[in-house]
Amino acid sequence: MGHIDRVLEEVDALADEAVAFTTEMIRIPTVNPPGDLYEECARFIGQQLVECGFDTEYYPAEGRPEHTVAHPRVNVVATRRGRFDRPLVHLNGHFDVVPAGDGWTVDPWGGEVRDGRIYGRGSCDMKAGIAAAVFASEAVRRAGIELNGTVEVSGTVDEESGGFAGVAWLAEHRRLSRDRTDYVIIPEPLYVDRICIGHRGVYWFEVQTRGRIAHGSMPFHGVSAIDHMALLLDRVRSELQPKLAARITDIPVVPPGARHATLNVNGISGGQPVDGIQTPCVADRCRAVFDRRFLLEEGFDATKAEIIELLEGIRRDVPDFQYHINDLMVVHPTRTPEGSPVVGALERALNRVLGRSGLVASPGTYDQKHVARIAGVPHCVAYGPGILDLAHQPDEYCDVADLVAATKVIALALLDLTGTHE
Ligand SMILES: [Zn+2]
Repeated sequence: MGHIDRVLEEVDALADEAVAFTTEMIRIPTVNPPGDLYEECARFIGQQLVECGFDTEYYPAEGRPEHTVAHPRVNVVATRRGRFDRPLVHLNGHFDVVPAGDGWTVDPWGGEVRDGRIYGRGSCDMKAGIAAAVFASEAVRRAGIELNGTVEVSGTVDEESGGFAGVAWLAEHRRLSRDRTDYVIIPEPLYVDRICIGHRGVYWFEVQTRGRIAHGSMPFHGVSAIDHMALLLDRVRSELQPKLAARITDIPVVPPGARHATLNVNGISGGQPVDGIQTPCVADRCRAVFDRRFLLEEGFDATKAEIIELLEGIRRDVPDFQYHINDLMVVHPTRTPEGSPVVGALERALNRVLGRSGLVASPGTYDQKHVARIAGVPHCVAYGPGILDLAHQPDEYCDVADLVAATKVIALALLDLTGTHE
């Protein structure tokens, strides 16, 4: 029997262990915020990796303000060297999960397996993905194959809140870096038969309009900041949003609606707090927070310039319109380079295991941005078990069949990327 068949057979044989490992992780509620039980979960993953023959190291995110005594931010990185140091394939999964929320019909922390599905918060996003990473390399080992390269597996924190104490920290401290790392696969849930090659950009900004306070019975003596915010919202709706809806990216973002540029108003407040005691006043201040998702083809500079131009256009028409804009967060879009070996290897593996493959990109961001921008490793994709739409939902689950298939695909990609042939 050849390498490939032996590895596929080993994955089938260890499927129950991979499921059990996933359910045990779900039973550690690593809820973010605030970042509960990170150290326990890192140690649990690390222990499994030791049993799978890895050298395991722990990296507390020293220097990050969110790394506290109450909520330590601890990452685990494990290495198994084959015949050579390089190529090095790094498999990274975040083990933080969002809060359970309401509407569950099963225990979100029970790790229940029923009708071929693993239920629980974090099952698809992305503890099953971590299990796929760990057991893909384990299947290679049990098949008695020594890789012509090195495999690393990491479990990291805080992806749901930006990943600054997780993947970004490892990249800033050169633990993840182009000097040592050739390929990165992040087993996020973006459909088991799809390879995710990047994400759109994010521009969060706050606009404050400023008016002039006056008596509410004589509003003509003042300038209402709320009326001025309404002017802005009206132009966003009538001028900007139609332009954004007409733009479409070449990158296969899913769902199809997210292939366009979008803008969401996250929140708004102005004048007196509505649940407090009211006095008659013209509002002299109004603030709103906007979430603009921009396309690789648009770029950040043009995206911001378009917002400024919209605001300046109002000022030209309404002389006492006063505003202040404040950038809250900028994440640039990322895209795996065309012809990347990591995409090719996963495509070949997918065609072998499932008989189909395709490319997608993510509507939101994930840790690929830190891998590409800070670590400088362009050959990074997301590929893992689970359905994107179930992430962060009540009754989140991952199909056992997805977990097994993704484990096989990643295992074959490890052989391919390290050039481990018969
Ligand atoms: Zn995730």
